[in-house]
Amino acid sequence: MNKKRVALVTGSTSGIGLSIASKFAAMGYDVAINSFEPEAEIHAALQTLEHSGAQVRYFQSDLAASGGGYDLVGDVVDAYGKLDVLVNNAGIQKVAPIEDFPPQDWHRIVAVSLDSAFHTIRAALPGMSERGWGRIINIASAHGLRASPFKSAYVATKHAVVGLTKTVALETAERGITVNAICPGYVWTPLVAAQVADQAKAHGMTQEQVMREIFLAPQPSRQFVQPEEIAEMAAYLCSDLARSITGATISIDGGWTAK
Ligand code: NAD
Repeated sequence: MNKKRVALVTGSTSGIGLSIASKFAAMGYDVAINSFEPEAEIHAALQTLEHSGAQVRYFQSDLAASGGGYDLVGDVVDAYGKLDVLVNNAGIQKVAPIEDFPPQDWHRIVAVSLDSAFHTIRAALPGMSERGWGRIINIASAHGLRASPFKSAYVATKHAVVGLTKTVALETAERGITVNAICPGYVWTPLVAAQVADQAKAHGMTQEQVMREIFLAPQPSRQFVQPEEIAEMAAYLCSDLARSITGATISIDGGWTAK
């Protein structure tokens, strides 16, 4: 049996997921990273992780595909022998008024963030239960606790991820497994950088104006959260001292949801 902790971080070739994978690698975990891109296109992500000397393997999987998350966990267990830590991080965004919201975008957003978490959790729990230890961390959002206009699919999905987190936490509370949701405010990642650029074009504003007047308006700190802040929290939740934190929604949002 592999004595090292084994962690899978979905959607981890960029942004928050890459930062969490990096932290786990630095902690000496065996790490499974994932995205939908071909392996040849994720060189930069692998290079970021290589310096740690940890065992890191890439698992390509489309989490929008039905059952993709279930098969992904199976592949990781086949490769490493077990799975101790599951981070459901993959996520996508689409901004449009509800009347114009393309149904295919609705379904893809729900599939990537919510359906895939259901499937990965179902696949990961039997092994964690058998060993009496497990950590499941769902990367939700401030939008899992608060709404914003034009983000119907994202807000609905993230609220559902929070509900899934609480339910599974209750079902596993006596098994040495914790299940928590981290709810970040705006974090400076490629997902947000692309939205800033799009909105600047759409509104005829500079990117700085968009950041200040649109993105950082709900965030009282007026600063973007950095991916490393999320990674540190994920690392803490994996420690034994965090064993009583379960079913929690942990906000890292510069005060957004205090309002
Ligand atoms: P990102 O775009 O930098 O990274 C998203 C990752 O998900 C990428 O690795 C991408 O390849 C992967 N992915 C997308 N579709 C996939 C699919 N079908 N199958 C497998 N992988 C897929 O985004 P990020 O900002 O780092 O966001 C990560 C998570 O954090 C998301 O769930 C997002 O909703 C959440 N979040 C982000 C912010 C923010 O401000 N950046 C705030 C709150 C919550």
